Amino acid sequence: MARLIVHKELVDDFGKLAALCPFGAIVPGHEGAEIDGRCRMCLVCVRRSEGRVTLEEDAKGPAEGWDGIAVFAETEGGRLHPVGLELLGKAGLMAARSGQKVLAVAVGHGLDGAADELRHYGAGRVVLYDDAAFAHYRVDTYTAALHDFVMAERPGTVLIGATTLGRSLAPRLAARLRTGLTADCTVLDMEEDGSLIQTRPAFGGNIMATIKTPAHRPQMATVRYKVMDMPERSKEASGLVVRAAVTDGMRRSGIEVLEARPKEKVVDLTEADAIVVAGRGIKSQADMAIVGRLADALHAQVAATRPLIEAGWQDPRRQIGLSGRTVKPRLIVTCGVSGSVQFAAGMRGSGRIVAINSDADASIFDISHIGIVGDLYEVVPRLTRMIEDGRAI
Ligand SMILES: Cc1cc2nc3c(=O)[nH]c(=O)nc-3n(C[C@H](O)[C@H](O)[C@H](O)COP(=O)(O)OP(=O)(O)OC[C@H]3O[C@@H](n4cnc5c(N)ncnc54)[C@H](O)[C@@H]3O)c2cc1C
Repeated sequence: MARLIVHKELVDDFGKLAALCPFGAIVPGHEGAEIDGRCRMCLVCVRRSEGRVTLEEDAKGPAEGWDGIAVFAETEGGRLHPVGLELLGKAGLMAARSGQKVLAVAVGHGLDGAADELRHYGAGRVVLYDDAAFAHYRVDTYTAALHDFVMAERPGTVLIGATTLGRSLAPRLAARLRTGLTADCTVLDMEEDGSLIQTRPAFGGNIMATIKTPAHRPQMATVRYKVMDMPERSKEASGLVVRAAVTDGMRRSGIEVLEARPKEKVVDLTEADAIVVAGRGIKSQADMAIVGRLADALHAQVAATRPLIEAGWQDPRRQIGLSGRTVKPRLIVTCGVSGSVQFAAGMRGSGRIVAINSDADASIFDISHIGIVGDLYEVVPRLTRMIEDGRAI
């Protein structure tokens, strides 16, 4: 790998050097000038700086000295978020392929229970940053703790759940580590040499982009909850629990938590066992009652495609898809849903997909296990009656 080196001892006029870069990537650093992430490697600075910036081959590869797959185990009040366990399962599979170790790291207060549980999911080492300063999430204290963890353990890969917390923490950590981050991955894989293959929808979900991080370590990715399979909990606990030293520097924060109030419990589609989805085949808001009745009969949650959410017919938290929730219920019944890539991205992992659509060529039938071609205004009430009478499903 080649990288740009600023020869600070030759820089007498920082402003003149910085002005050479068309992208503003030459910035003041700890000991003079340095090059930040805006650099496009256009090499204008190399050509015009009269030797002050040179392009040099790195003797060591970027991966040298970095080893292992680390999973951030998110906790809330000491309780683990299941996405961390899903990521540990995936990390275990990738580690087996690339011959690496798996680490888990948790930041919070009162983490003993969480640490014990993590030992049942294949982490060879569980590192805890357990301190009263971490009792509530604050992006600066958590970033400081994770930065300390990465610098101490030097894992080649760091995986973080794309939860509300993870989406705030991961970019800040990546920036601090001056490495890349692929957000919202839907597929992860690893080559034998430890290179992480990160796949995520791009251009509005019309293509799946495969991204690698060849020049920097650690490789960082966030993954949505319910995208990876939950691994089996092993009966035997394994792995070592290590308590990391928490310093005053990590505790220092510009954020003061005045009060923490639990949020009102809202529908959580991601936890639903059964879901009935309304699509644009439903002609009016009043007709949503048809879908609601089927959902009641199945003890299911009601969800909708994006056009219905945009029409204000349902709470936005009930949208499934790329820009909505990712769900994995045991049963999902779609009513008048075409099966766009953006919708399918949020539900294709469901256990059993039943699709009702009047168009036999609708792409929802490509991913459904049971397809019913017909008018939902006839099919759905009939199906509901059969379920209520105990004659179906
Ligand atoms: C960046 C981006 C992100 C997006 N994110 C999402 C997302 O998260 N979730 C999402 O849902 N969409 C999302 N979309 C929109 C997506 O592209 C589709 O427009 C949307 O999913 C279509 O919703 P639909 O299937 O309800 O409607 P349509 O595509 O209009 O399909 C309606 C279906 O109903 C059938 N139908 C009509 N009448 C009947 C009837 N009487 N009986 C039975 N079937 C009938 C039709 O045959 C048709 O297949 C996104 C788009 C973009 C660009």
